[in-house]
Parts: sequence; structure tokens; C-alpha cells
Amino acid sequence: MSTPSSFCPELVGCLSQGAAGNPTVVMVEAAFKHHGINGRYINMEVPPENLADAVKGVRATGYKGFNLSMPHKVAVIPLLDGLGESASVIGAVNCVVRRGDKLIGENTDGKGFLRSLTDITDPKGKTVVLFGAGGAARAVAVELALAGVGRFILVNRTASRGQELLDTLLKLKCRAELVVWNGDFTLPPETDIVINGTSIGLYDAEARLPLDIQSLKAGQIVADVVFSPPVTRLLRDAQARGCKTLDGLSMLVNQGVLGVHYWTDVMPDAGVMHRALAAAMGV
Ligand code: NDP
Repeated sequence: MSTPSSFCPELVGCLSQGAAGNPTVVMVEAAFKHHGINGRYINMEVPPENLADAVKGVRATGYKGFNLSMPHKVAVIPLLDGLGESASVIGAVNCVVRRGDKLIGENTDGKGFLRSLTDITDPKGKTVVLFGAGGAARAVAVELALAGVGRFILVNRTASRGQELLDTLLKLKCRAELVVWNGDFTLPPETDIVINGTSIGLYDAEARLPLDIQSLKAGQIVADVVFSPPVTRLLRDAQARGCKTLDGLSMLVNQGVLGVHYWTDVMPDAGVMHRALAAAMGV
């Protein structure tokens, strides 16, 4: 990207269905400002029926790339020129990068989670219990599989969705099994890492994940993809049991870090982005 001496800023977009008040705008623009990048991150509200036209518009106007939120993460795939490895396995794109005249789809959700996790542990060979099998859980699972997790225990309410993720992991030659979630789940004693990849807890600090809290052990790592509130009931319970915790806010920051790196070649300061995001969210 160009330096601040250029008059016209380079543009990156965010195509979402409910665009108003997206705090990631503040986070990405804080990184641009901190690193002297003459860029703007523009939020655009795009209804599903207009996605194809929006992508054409982004191509025509020379944007460096864009993020996507649901429901566009899957629908965008046929509109792109290619996919990165994990986006292709996950089957969803949250970050598009212009490479020459091509728009390439990447998935930075799982990579962002992995970056946060590797700050506290190496997932290689570990036993992971993952709740959920939706978009976020798929992204996290595929990235952890590529990082060499030893065994996955997938726990999902809907068997068919859980089975799809199980099939994906088995294709990647992982050791994995599926438990259909029915009542409180008891963690097997060999569990190293517990991840809530569901939306339970989103905007509800008291929402309870159906999990036998007594089966949490001191020293285990407990992560939540939910970023609002950043400290979910699961994380509070896990802290009280002596577990190490990882919140969804750091995953959100790290997916943003990777996006800025893709678009600008600058590896931005995660602390600057974290502080800007937390301030924008009032947490
Ligand atoms: P999806 O709708 O694709 O998946 C939701 C998942 O949650 C499914 O597995 C669903 O199970 C499960 N679920 C929801 N409610 C319940 C319940 N009451 N009981 C049991 N299971 C339930 O959503 P996403 O995967 O896109 O998003 C999940 C969360 O991840 C959201 O809170 C989102 O904000 C967060 N997220 C965080 C990111 C970050 O950077 N921190 C990035 C992306 C997402 P079932 O299959 O049975 O319906």
C-alpha cells in the first residue's frame, strides 16, 4: 500500500448484511494510522441479492480486498478467482485479497484463533473438545487440524452438521469422533483444550454451555469464540476451576491482524488493534 504522502487512500472493504456500528472498522483503521498506511476500511451493507454486484464494484474500483460476514462467507466463493488452502477446505471465505488482477478468498477466522492459541500452547498432539460445527467451529477445527492436533472430540447438537465437520477432519487424516450433544457433556480426563465454537453466550453473559463444569481441570485451556461479551460464563467458570482461558476478542483481533497483513504486507501491532477494538466495544 502507499505511504501517507499519496493523496488518495487505498481502500479495503467489509461486506456485511448489518453493517452499522461495526467495531472492526475502528480496529483496522487504528492499525493503518499506527503504521502510517494511507488506507481506509469501509463498511458496506450488502443484502444477499446484491453480493455479486458488490464484488464487481470492488473489482472495478481497485479495492485491495475486503472482509465478509455472514451470510456472505459461502455465497462469495463462486464470485472469486481462487481460494487459499484452508478457505478451500473450510468452504467459507471471510477475507478476500487482490493479487494482481485476481480476487483470492482466504479464511482468517481459524488462523486468527490459532495465532491466539499458540501464544499460550502448541496444539500439536493435543486432545481437543470442540463444541459446535457451524462456520466458526469449522474454521477453527480445520486450522487446528493443519497445525497437527492429535485428537478431536466434536460435540454438536445437530448430528448432520457435526457429521459434515467430522468427515472434513477425517479427510485431513485426523483422529476425530462425534458426540451428538444431549444434556451436559462431561469432558474426558485426557482433554487438553476445550473450545466453545457455538454462538451460546453471544450478547448474554449468563448463557450457560451445557457442560459439566466439575469435569474442567486446572491447567486445561478453555477458549471461547464468542467475543461479546469477551468474558463469557464459560470463561468465568473455567477461571474459577484453575483453567487458562482465551477469549473471542483475541481471535477477532488476530483475524484482523492477518487481514491487514494480507492487504498491505505490513504485520500490524496486535496490541494497538486490541486496544482500539476494546475501546470501540466499550469493554
Ligand atoms: P453458525 O450459525 O454457523 O453455528 C452456530 C453453532 O452453534 C452451531 O454448531 C449450532 O449448533 C450451535 N448452537 C447455537 N445455539 C445452540 C444451542 N442453544 N445449543 C447447542 N448448540 C447451539 O454460527 P458461526 O459459527 O458463524 O458463529 C458462532 C459464534 O462464533 C458466534 O458467536 C460468532 O459471533 C462467533 N465468531 C467469532 C469470531 C471471532 O473472531 N471471535 C469469528 C466468527 C464467528 P447446530 O448445528 O445444532 O445448530
